Amino acid sequence: MSADANCIFCKIVAGQIPSRKVFEDEDLFAFHDIAPWAPVHFLIIPKLHIPSMAQVGEEHARLLGKIMTLAPQLALEQGCRPYPEGGFRIVTNTGAEGGQEVHHLHVHVMGGPRPWLKG
Ligand code: 5GP
Ligand code: ZN
Repeated sequence: MSADANCIFCKIVAGQIPSRKVFEDEDLFAFHDIAPWAPVHFLIIPKLHIPSMAQVGEEHARLLGKIMTLAPQLALEQGCRPYPEGGFRIVTNTGAEGGQEVHHLHVHVMGGPRPWLKG
């Protein structure tokens, strides 16, 4: 499950498709969603091509832990107000019935003043 030549998020990680980057390290990449539902809406993805949460195993525990600990830090940096008045929503759509459109694991982080377009 290394980079998939047909995957738009692998192309974003590789810089072949432009994105508004929020964060990058050796394992993870974060960028603003192209069609935001909320005033703050960015995606955190592993650089590794994992199609969805359905393929996740014990070997990915460290990576998922990194994503989940990065989310609150980036949420504040991107303008979400602090908990409990502010906060944010984390969503990971999985599979067709889970509403997943891009098949490279990603965590949506959404926040900011309501109302939002969706959610
Ligand atoms: P999903 O429905 O798979 O959970 O969400 C995919 C998300 O990726 C959508 O919110 C969509 O707006 C976003 N997206 C799709 N293509 C691109 C793109 O080329 N660039 C960026 N920045 N976001 C994208
Ligand atoms: Zn990919």
